[in-house]
Amino acid sequence: MKTTLLTDVSVEDICKGFVYNELEGKGLFGWGGKLTIQPEYQRNYIYADGKKDVAVVRSLMSGYPLGLIYFVKTADGRYEVLDGQQRITSFGRFRTGKLGVKDANGMEQYYDGLADDLKEKISGAKLTIYVCEGEESEIKEWFKTINIAGIPLNEQELLNSIYSGPFVSAAKAEFSNSQNAYVQKWSAYISGNVNRQDYLQTALDWVSKGNIDGYMSKHRFDTDINELKTYFNSVIDWISGVFSDVESEMRGLEWGRLYETYHTTPYDPIEVSKKVQTLLADPFVKNKKGIFEYVLGGEQDTKLLDIRIFEENTKRSVYTMQTKTATELGVSNCPLCAMGHEANRTRIWKLTEMDADHVSAWSKGGATDITNCQMLCKTHNRAKGNK
Ligand SMILES: [Zn+2]
Repeated sequence: MKTTLLTDVSVEDICKGFVYNELEGKGLFGWGGKLTIQPEYQRNYIYADGKKDVAVVRSLMSGYPLGLIYFVKTADGRYEVLDGQQRITSFGRFRTGKLGVKDANGMEQYYDGLADDLKEKISGAKLTIYVCEGEESEIKEWFKTINIAGIPLNEQELLNSIYSGPFVSAAKAEFSNSQNAYVQKWSAYISGNVNRQDYLQTALDWVSKGNIDGYMSKHRFDTDINELKTYFNSVIDWISGVFSDVESEMRGLEWGRLYETYHTTPYDPIEVSKKVQTLLADPFVKNKKGIFEYVLGGEQDTKLLDIRIFEENTKRSVYTMQTKTATELGVSNCPLCAMGHEANRTRIWKLTEMDADHVSAWSKGGATDITNCQMLCKTHNRAKGNK
């Protein structure tokens, strides 16, 4: 693959023949027709929020660089924007009078109304453009590994570009479409942003068991997304069937993995709901997001809940009392060591060599306070485990 650095192309050059599709919010062509601004695989123009697009124009007005822009030279000698679409569309809209910027007095300013020196500063600004030529696979591989300036493409956006084709188009229509009426329901369980492909990424992650890249490669030329859609809906239906309440802590959990592990286990949604509510209200449960997996797994693995540990001053008081008594009796200050027959039977451990333990386990109702705290040497504490 060959890359060429262009430093003599100006904003004005790119804006020649700039075509913007108002309806779709897309910059289409520029550079006198030589440049395709939004190839099929690119994401939507997400700068059109009145802030980022204006920020691009202000950067130009201040003489700041816009960062690296990447073009691909195609076989027919034309160019496609690989990265920089948003920046180009922003200044293209401004240059062609489709975008205004407020001045210090709050008055909307358009390019044609600017002073000549400011016009010259903007349109004469030189861009830094890398042009890549080579096999599609090489370019895409390289694109995947570079650190792109501007708003970096996220992982899923990169994959969409790498595996562009009918499958990605169909999958985006379903999972990257904020107009989809189901998005509201899905947002209870999935975190992130529909437009930034987070829902698509989740759907692919679930169906592929984490091998998104492999799945997209295999299905690249599929014209339907039936398997993806069916699997996704199965997971969503399962979650909403088992957990009748929607809690904010459910968002973004590894539902695909949980579905695979537990969907063949029967649950009583009423019982599940009671357990979840009790744990959500339990002040000793620090990791509320772990509650759902804890309940699914039959309330065995308390590590998922990150049960609140004893305060430092509690540990210190208990240590002092235990050590005083043990010294008087001539035994170890670890009660379990004191019961043994080994060398540690009379050993007095330092505070730093001990850990706090729930005498009565939290899972059996034991509280995390001084009345239920004992200090054990680290070995015995580990052996007893977080029960
Ligand atoms: Zn011990």
